Amino acid sequence: MAQKDFDISQIDLEKERKEILRAFKCLMRQVKNRSKEDTEMIRKAFDMAVEAHKEVRRASGEPYIYHPIAVARICVEEMGLGPTAIICALLHDTVEDTYITLQDIEDVFGPKVRLIIDGLTKIPEVFDENASIQAENFRKMILTISDDLRVVLIKLADRLHNMRTLGSMREDKQLKIASETKFLYAPLAHRLGLYSIKSELEDLSFKYTEKEVYKQIESALKSSQEVRNRFIRRLLHPIKEAMTNEGFKFEIKARTKSISSIWHKMQSKGIPFEEVYDVFAIRIILDTPIELEKSDCWRVYSIVTDFYQPSPDRLRDWISTPRANGYESLHTTVMSPQGKWVEVQIRTKRMDEIAEKGLAAHYKYKESKKDDSKLDRWISEIRSLLENPAMNAMDFINEFKLNLFNDEIYVFTPKGELRVLPTGATVLDFAYDIHTRIGDTCIGAKVNNKLMPLSYQLQSGDQLEIITSSKQRPNEDWVSMVVTARAKQKIKANLNEERKQIAEDGREILMRKFKQHNINFISENITFLEKAFQLPSATELYFRIAKGKLNLTKLREFDNDNGILSFKKSEDTSKRIRKKENIQASVNKKADTLIIGDDFKNIHYTLAKCCSPIPGDKVFGFITINDGVKIHRTNCPNAENLMSKMAYRCINARWRDQDIEEREVTIKIFGFDRMGIVNRLTGIISNQHNVNMKSISFETEDGLFEGKVRVMVLDTKHLEQLKNKIEEVEGVQRVVRWDEENNESKEYVEED
Ligand code: MN
Repeated sequence: MAQKDFDISQIDLEKERKEILRAFKCLMRQVKNRSKEDTEMIRKAFDMAVEAHKEVRRASGEPYIYHPIAVARICVEEMGLGPTAIICALLHDTVEDTYITLQDIEDVFGPKVRLIIDGLTKIPEVFDENASIQAENFRKMILTISDDLRVVLIKLADRLHNMRTLGSMREDKQLKIASETKFLYAPLAHRLGLYSIKSELEDLSFKYTEKEVYKQIESALKSSQEVRNRFIRRLLHPIKEAMTNEGFKFEIKARTKSISSIWHKMQSKGIPFEEVYDVFAIRIILDTPIELEKSDCWRVYSIVTDFYQPSPDRLRDWISTPRANGYESLHTTVMSPQGKWVEVQIRTKRMDEIAEKGLAAHYKYKESKKDDSKLDRWISEIRSLLENPAMNAMDFINEFKLNLFNDEIYVFTPKGELRVLPTGATVLDFAYDIHTRIGDTCIGAKVNNKLMPLSYQLQSGDQLEIITSSKQRPNEDWVSMVVTARAKQKIKANLNEERKQIAEDGREILMRKFKQHNINFISENITFLEKAFQLPSATELYFRIAKGKLNLTKLREFDNDNGILSFKKSEDTSKRIRKKENIQASVNKKADTLIIGDDFKNIHYTLAKCCSPIPGDKVFGFITINDGVKIHRTNCPNAENLMSKMAYRCINARWRDQDIEEREVTIKIFGFDRMGIVNRLTGIISNQHNVNMKSISFETEDGLFEGKVRVMVLDTKHLEQLKNKIEEVEGVQRVVRWDEENNESKEYVEED
């Protein structure tokens, strides 16, 4: 933390050194059962830290080394951590603030300590103004949990000491650090089960963010202290006597509620300080062997309620059912003779230690398997959040915070198995809590034998039987129906999977289309299409193709150069048109014109199959070797080739004016696959226009259809009318006259 210039000459350095050493000895006295080697290593860490920080002072003016010593003391005394944590706490600021490197640390203390210091160094002291960066950093910090939980614990101890000494900081910094503590660290301490640290962090940040209110409540507490003490003494007297008579070993504490939670109560209930009934709580702590814990706590409950009437709706049994973070205690609220409600907490020494010191204490009492599984559950919840790389940092912090602030509810499976879920959890959360497959196929639940929808919010005590259907699939709406990180992640994963699946289909459609158009299925062409359709990724391209949102007939509008797509070059096009016009002009100059429909003897002509001309089309004749004259449309795909290479065999042709013969054309219809569209199209073609339909075929795939219809029409005008009518049908995207240019055209090119 920040340093100022101090006049070193005014300070008695020798005296200061002695004081530092005394502070260190104080710390060492707290480290119980340490080996000789532990002592040696802690001493080495202390010496290294003293040397590294020797020039630096804190904002208060005291030597910097007091801070790491204090952090180490919090780790030992308030969290119950061991030698490794103490070494790390002493060194926690060295790598970030001094010349000492991680390698130096590893050389002396080994890889474990290096790993923890590294984790601590990565968490910045004060987060950036930018909210998303803040969340990102917090995510990093939580990430280190998977390496070593001590990183988080030491960081909390560091923050606690900085909060305790926040008074000497600049006011704007005080506010920033205080609100950050409330926003990030207090909830974290709560979730780790460090209740007293959580309360202190909350109170300290409250002290700086709500200065006036804090002072008011603080003085109200002080002035009512005497009255309160007398009241408590009288209240406890008969209980103490009875418990001693029954042979209990115990300790009783009267704990005042934290200032911030008193304020919270005043706010939420809209009452003045005097009316907050649980300003303090009585805590009875039993010294009893683990196998007698439960029955002894209930025996004490019985004694307490022999003297004072309990409120039945304020009984909390967290011994039979510990909270998710491992908290165990029996809470009741009783009526005093003066008519005041008083909360009484009954627990054992073990439970009290876990409640006060949280996590570290869990390790000490490994016998209690129940606790470990709760703890594992919490860690696995965090892990499941971290395993999802798609989730951005802000999502993470929101969901993490949600999980931190929420209280649990307790619900039961049909067989009576207990499940702990956050408040607000729904039927769907419960389903995912049991199994991903059950979540994915859940359609509702029987809650206490009544049928309830997926979104039904569970209440403590509900018993649920999940109903599934093999036809059910998760959809986008589900994400907003759940509160647990696990369910959210599983639903999102499923939705992504489905999208990928659809995209896979789209890829196959495109592959077939490419083959049909002789386009190579290579990344170059895919990238080209992404650009041409302005799409962000290939997956998006495939997805749209599969959903029928992309018109693939556009493929013909690109140049296809040996299987590689490119945009048509306008210059080339105009050149080619000019060339074509020249050829046609030369053909037209010829005197002989074939009038189609006139019954010329000796001239045998047929209509070319490659472009199926109909009256109205511009046409020309091509003299074949064995098959007479073939009539092609001038815009036939083969026309250019014929006219340029064998112009001498081309003759003019035109339709006889009053031709009434019907000709066959093929049209293709593209569009979305809608119910009944085939019937509607058939109706239009045959009835409305009196068009003679020769054949019709429809192919549908993934919501897209392609229809191929062969009809008899009189002329181009007639055809145009039909096309317009079909285009009006809802779902139809495009109607084109189809020349078999792509597949069959080549065989019709006449060669000598
Ligand atoms: Mn620090």
